[in-house]
Amino acid sequence: MAVVSSGLLLLIFMFLILILMPVLIGIGVYRDAKARGMEPWLWTAVAVLVPYCIGLIIYLVLRTKHKGLKCGSCGTGVEPDYAVCPHCGAKLKYTCESCGKPVAADWQACAHCGAALPQGRTPLVAAAEAPSSKPLWIILGIVIGLVLLLLALFIGIPFLTFAGFAAV
Ligand SMILES: [Zn+2]
Ligand SMILES: [Zn+2]
Repeated sequence: MAVVSSGLLLLIFMFLILILMPVLIGIGVYRDAKARGMEPWLWTAVAVLVPYCIGLIIYLVLRTKHKGLKCGSCGTGVEPDYAVCPHCGAKLKYTCESCGKPVAADWQACAHCGAALPQGRTPLVAAAEAPSSKPLWIILGIVIGLVLLLLALFIGIPFLTFAGFAAV
């Protein structure tokens, strides 16, 4: 009887871990991806659905290369090709006063019409400070810990069962 109930407890425990792990990973990746301007749902799906934490590891590797940009006016995360901030409406790109086409901040002359451009302009988007990568590494540590615990349990159950029968 004691063996059955402890076995059941272990099963419930493992079930909780199996549910809890993807939820923890999903929340961490979703928040992190959103802060970086990466596709949050896509990366959450990759991190949760690709087995053995491979999706999570792929995300951790790729996220370091993704430089976030923010609106110079309100600080909202923006994509490099945005012309206007979707949040506050501030212009994020310079346009040529002569032809109205977009020009880069460091151009001396308009590439479209050849008009001279005013100098000393600063980019209207700023690099977003990288969000701390600590929370995600903590989650990864917990996940690895849980996986090791699960392995220990799988090895432990036959031993416990054997010990239980031996006691009887
Ligand atoms: Zn803005
Ligand atoms: Zn022009």
